[in-house]
Amino acid sequence: MVTFDVVTIFPAMVEAGLAEGVVGRARARGLLDIAVHDLRGFTTDRHHVVDDVAFGGGPGMVMKAEPFYVAVETIRQRRGGPVRVVLTSPAGRRFDQAAAEAMAQDDGVLWLCGRYEGVDERVVDAVGAEEWSVGDYVVSGGELPALVMIDAIARLVPGVVGDERSVENDSFSAGGLDYPHYTRPALWRDRAVPEVLLSGHHAAIEQWRRERAAERTRARRPDLVVGASGRGKGKGEER
Ligand code: SAH
Repeated sequence: MVTFDVVTIFPAMVEAGLAEGVVGRARARGLLDIAVHDLRGFTTDRHHVVDDVAFGGGPGMVMKAEPFYVAVETIRQRRGGPVRVVLTSPAGRRFDQAAAEAMAQDDGVLWLCGRYEGVDERVVDAVGAEEWSVGDYVVSGGELPALVMIDAIARLVPGVVGDERSVENDSFSAGGLDYPHYTRPALWRDRAVPEVLLSGHHAAIEQWRRERAAERTRARRPDLVVGASGRGKGKGEER
């Protein structure tokens, strides 16, 4: 089973993000092995310094290499097996469902959360880290990106999501977007639920859902349509 480790200067922020909902329940039931580590615990100086000024000048601080290095060494030793190291970074490869599926098959993944201007570049090579981004925007730290990736991977661990069919139907898992969902009441503020969903006719409902999903994918995300300039990402397809 994949293990999760997070190294951060804000462990409480990460713990809070893991405490509730699907991930929180799975963790409480022992389905997920997640450990959050305080980066300052891997420093040796009295003041537990994790940042310093940038060589070459310019605004902002840079996170020092050594505490991250010691953290990775310590955690790898503790886990006693291969652990993939992910440095959260806007300069990384864009994280997606296929990446989540691959990581869910791993023995362990360890996230390094940057802050300030980022992490000393030499860390990447020294610990053999991969860099992953959650999208083309900048947030203030790697904690939220790490939580996003952990949640996406955790959903794919058997038993974490109560009914496995909901994961199979999710957007991207089957290659495209999900179909639209409705709940009671059937008539709400003059808006009716599509008739077919009330019919009890399972084959017709299935077909309607498949069609709506395909229609949405074509309209909103033509890049996901398999065959579209050879870029569609079907489940399990080579990337
Ligand atoms: N100067 C950097 C941004 C630093 S933001 C740049 O322009 O690339 C501080 C930290 O937040 C980063 O080191 C990284 O760990 C995290 N971070 C910010 N945006 C992110 C994103 N889109 N994906 C993953 N991590 C991100």
